[in-house]
Amino acid sequence: MSGILEGKVGVITGGGSGIGRATSVIFGAEGAKVVVSDVNEEGGNETVDMIKKAGGDAVFVRCDVSQSAEVEALIKACVSQYGQLDCAFNNAGISGKMANTVMCSEANFDRNIAVNLKGVWLCMKYEIQQFLDQGTGGSIVSTASIAGLVAAAYAPAYGAAKHGVNGLTKSAAIEFAKKNIRVNSVCPGLIETPMVAAAGTDSKLIDTMIAAEPVGRMGQPNEIGHAVAWLCSEKASFVTGHCMPVDGGYVAQ
Ligand code: NAD
Repeated sequence: MSGILEGKVGVITGGGSGIGRATSVIFGAEGAKVVVSDVNEEGGNETVDMIKKAGGDAVFVRCDVSQSAEVEALIKACVSQYGQLDCAFNNAGISGKMANTVMCSEANFDRNIAVNLKGVWLCMKYEIQQFLDQGTGGSIVSTASIAGLVAAAYAPAYGAAKHGVNGLTKSAAIEFAKKNIRVNSVCPGLIETPMVAAAGTDSKLIDTMIAAEPVGRMGQPNEIGHAVAWLCSEKASFVTGHCMPVDGGYVAQ
């Protein structure tokens, strides 16, 4: 039986860990050729090995998404490896430091915006240009957050960046809808990844966050990955400009 991404070529940023890794593995299992990208070379190469062991096709390309030249080179590397680009998951991100709006440092603010917002815009810029050059259309999904839909207390820069990701998503969706280019985002709730583990040295904080989830548990990275694979597939052909919560009901409260 063929997968929902059979014959497609996808780029995934932040593919060396957490949500990006799980999504990369799902893309491979659904038939896509996957360019796994990250600043973490070891993690990225491990993800490639996981895809290959499961019978899929993948390569690792290092890229810091906050650097324009590196993002341009990533898309070029994808085309030179696999001849085309059909879908992309712009997922690389950082949590930054927890601090309220007054206490947030300028460096923390700037880094959050550089990776979580500018990084997504740079990816869209070069991915969409490639889709236009190919004349084939394509599908982009970026990782926003529930913090891109509702308040993120003590994470003002993160919240601003993630709201910005949803703004970029809607703008690009409208601009290129007639070119058969679809642009969506996923807005994960609390997902059990190394990012959350790092923030959760204070286990009370994690318990409080779980208690705020209507389903009463953290989500798993593959629960995001399946949503992303669907959005990137032809099954979602009429879905664009959508910022999809995958959050155990968090924003429905
Ligand atoms: P993670 O830390 O496990 O993975 C993030 C990956 O991004 C890492 O491999 C890291 O090396 C990479 N990365 C960081 N900066 C980069 C850069 N400048 N260029 C390229 N790669 C870079 O975390 P995760 O939880 O899997 O997060 C993935 C995405 O999901 C992030 O955008 C995050 O903001 C978002 N998110 C996570 C949660 C959650 O609860 N885990 C909730 C909502 C949104």
